[in-house]
Amino acid sequence: MYNAKAYSAASSTSSLAPTTIARRDPTEHDIQIEILFCGICHSDLHQVRNEWSGLMPTVYPIVPGHEIVGRVTKVGSAVTRYKPGDLAAVGCMVDSDGACPECRAGLEQFCPNMTLTFNSPDKHLGGVTYGGNSDSIVVDERFVLRVPSNLDLAGTAPLLCAGITTYSPMRRWGVTKGKKVGVVGLGGLGHMGVKFAHAFGAHVVVFTTSPGKKEDALRLGADEVVVSRNADEMQKHAGSFDFILDAVAADHDINAYINLLRRDGNITLVGAPAMPLAVAAFGLLFGRRTLSGSLIGGIPETQKMLDFCGAHNITADVEVIPIQKVNEAYERLLKSDVKYRFSIDMASLKSE
Ligand code: NAP
Ligand code: ZN
Repeated sequence: MYNAKAYSAASSTSSLAPTTIARRDPTEHDIQIEILFCGICHSDLHQVRNEWSGLMPTVYPIVPGHEIVGRVTKVGSAVTRYKPGDLAAVGCMVDSDGACPECRAGLEQFCPNMTLTFNSPDKHLGGVTYGGNSDSIVVDERFVLRVPSNLDLAGTAPLLCAGITTYSPMRRWGVTKGKKVGVVGLGGLGHMGVKFAHAFGAHVVVFTTSPGKKEDALRLGADEVVVSRNADEMQKHAGSFDFILDAVAADHDINAYINLLRRDGNITLVGAPAMPLAVAAFGLLFGRRTLSGSLIGGIPETQKMLDFCGAHNITADVEVIPIQKVNEAYERLLKSDVKYRFSIDMASLKSE
């Protein structure tokens, strides 16, 4: 065991503050990574503030962060795919049983014994796992991803959650050339959704509550932008979408989007608002439309997504901040004031 520097919150109403945590020494299949950048996902905020208390109550102190890019510092004796000095990335998961049908299908996110990067029971040290708001992390080789060498590292970190969470449902629902695709909410997830839908050749429409994000949306790859508070603008698109990705972090009227789908169109929720959304049955009945959810993506698909990003030079648009600004960044997330992902430069933790 060794000590690592980190930022943690002591309760749902506490700010994140400097602390020291225990990390395990790498066992034979483990990789120790010096963390260089860690993105801030709205899920970090939901969990630090215990907003998902019904499904996954937060255990305090919590060290958030699951969009991790770094450099390998040590490898266990049985590790074959990485060596010290290599770039490496870790997303939302650090372990799973490896034996169940979900794991065998490469869908580790649905394994009943999956371990999340933070706030999950830690089978090595007891207590819960601690995330990427830290100077280092130790992870089983099976959950470490390869980083394409051409990508900017600060902008690569968010691919590990915002990237895979938007890439995966778009692949599953056949987002390709000739399809009309909507992205609701231009935040961290939404802006990656726009980039992927554009790269896959779809006609992309962004729905935003922030009129000030219109030009950015077009620059990111949108063909059209709709300010969703404008009912007339919404009505123009009624019954026309093949697929809509809903990446909104707060309560909102999902029926307004269901009504924009064509026959057999699908809307997939990736946003995870704390409170249930009200769904009007008729919107789904008429047009045989479907509403689905999607959770991050499995490890093989995450690697595919990273390789796709390497080949197409895709990274997140980031505002790089020192860890000392993490609490301010959370407040800005709540105001939809992020362009379009915060990425923490973890070198800033050295001065704590
Ligand atoms: P984010 O950066 O805060 O973006 C959310 C966006 O939603 C905002 O930028 C805003 O876009 C829109 N929005 C916010 N409040 C709204 C409101 N009251 N009404 C309508 N729109 C609103 O968050 P994120 O990191 O992208 O995460 C989005 C959600 O996905 C969170 O709930 C997060 O927990 C969840 N998530 C799920 C998964 C998964 O596996 N399914 C993975 C990661 C995150 P505009 O300004 O354009 O309106
Ligand atoms: Zn996330």
